[in-house]
Amino acid sequence: MPTAAIRQFVDSKRTWIERRLAEARERQAQRQDRPCMTQEELSLLFERARAVLPERTAYFAAVIGVDYGRITIRRQKTRWGSCSSKGNLSFNCMLMLLPPALQDYVVVHELCHRREMNHSARFWEEVARVLPDYKQRRAQLRQSGDCINR
Ligand SMILES: [Zn+2]
Repeated sequence: MPTAAIRQFVDSKRTWIERRLAEARERQAQRQDRPCMTQEELSLLFERARAVLPERTAYFAAVIGVDYGRITIRRQKTRWGSCSSKGNLSFNCMLMLLPPALQDYVVVHELCHRREMNHSARFWEEVARVLPDYKQRRAQLRQSGDCINR
């Protein structure tokens, strides 16, 4: 096919081609949005989180000397854990993909919010009292941040 003929062909099909390209881009975006694991793998993570995290929480709550309410395991997109003003804790099931040292850091972090509902110097002092190497764990956790979205 001569170049001019190809151009003419492409021009005549431009709308059709652009629509197909847009569709392909959309499919690609959806694929990236989807978790890279099956439903079964995900429920396994939930199961493991429900078995491990309440135990770690009970242990560290005793160490810190605080109480807490309910523990909920979630599949959050942007957080590893949270602590409500009533003391209810939630943890991301994706924590189970991380080393125990980082799981413990998240547990301790959320429990220390039972003392300080902020990230003040006093809050970090509480964390450091339990985990003197928390800065290192925090940095490692930040590096693992990407896997939360996959
Ligand atoms: Zn916090």
